[in-house]
Amino acid sequence: MITVIGLGPMGQAMVRSLRKAGQEVTVWNRTASRAEGLGATIAPTVAEALAASELVILSLTDYKAMYDILGGETIGGKVIVNLSSDTPDKTRAAARWAEERGATLIGGGVMVPAELVGTDKAYVFYSGPEDLIRQYEPQLGIIGAVRYVGTDPALGQLFYQAQLDIFLTALASYLHATALVEAAGVPAAEYLPYAVENFDMVSYYLPEALKHIEEGKYPGDAANVIMMGATADHIVGASNESGVDSALPYAVKSMYDRAIAKGHGRDNWTSLYEVVKSAAA
Ligand code: NDP
Repeated sequence: MITVIGLGPMGQAMVRSLRKAGQEVTVWNRTASRAEGLGATIAPTVAEALAASELVILSLTDYKAMYDILGGETIGGKVIVNLSSDTPDKTRAAARWAEERGATLIGGGVMVPAELVGTDKAYVFYSGPEDLIRQYEPQLGIIGAVRYVGTDPALGQLFYQAQLDIFLTALASYLHATALVEAAGVPAAEYLPYAVENFDMVSYYLPEALKHIEEGKYPGDAANVIMMGATADHIVGASNESGVDSALPYAVKSMYDRAIAKGHGRDNWTSLYEVVKSAAA
């Protein structure tokens, strides 16, 4: 038996996939009507939803919603898998909060949109006590492949956000690049294949970047910060000339400016890491 609390698009998709796999599921949602038609047992109260299962999955807007729902309840003995998005510190605080009440909190983040939950494309980052996560892997694995990333309860959340950091910025950059070419009268569809080629190529640069990050050395023979920074500046200029928003390229250009100011002009572009890794830089 599994309890799922929170039945937005994501929670509903989880329940559907669990039911499809033959799991008994009890659900509770603040707006009761969202619990209908999922083939799950609808608990009339949070207390009854909690009583139904040791494993309680939360799919809520944020961690505040968890306190709103569970704050007045007895949660001792429960394994609360919170797959709601929030900051790592809030996840750590929630783990302490659960522990003080005799429960265990497992943090995590679902890495696919609701429509892909339960498919072979789905994966979910988890962190916290590995033995419990492995114990429940047969059930959790129905939602998506279990990617365990460490004992710190916030790590699952952090990996989720790191992935979205790349994802959101990359998607925004695609829209920006498309706006740039469209401003010159080129249909977006004409540019698309080039964008796809570029996205496919980006990961090629990561192993070398990792080597530089690990060694703390950024040899810059081929693509140094001054050259790349000038290019970043040209993208800002192209945006301004065509009336396209320049906030995104400007943010990138400012990192190059700061790297040059720190003396990395002749280093590899990877030396931007020295600027990025600390807000004080
Ligand atoms: P929604 O915001 O649509 O659903 C949120 C759920 O939280 C609803 O069941 C809502 O109840 C409940 N809720 C919010 N605030 C409270 C509160 N104060 N008290 C009680 N219940 C509350 O989110 P999604 O279903 O789309 O996503 C859930 C989580 O999964 C989010 O953290 C999201 O970032 C993450 N996620 C979502 C993805 C997606 O594709 N949707 C993809 C990957 C991650 P009610 O129905 O009453 O409003």
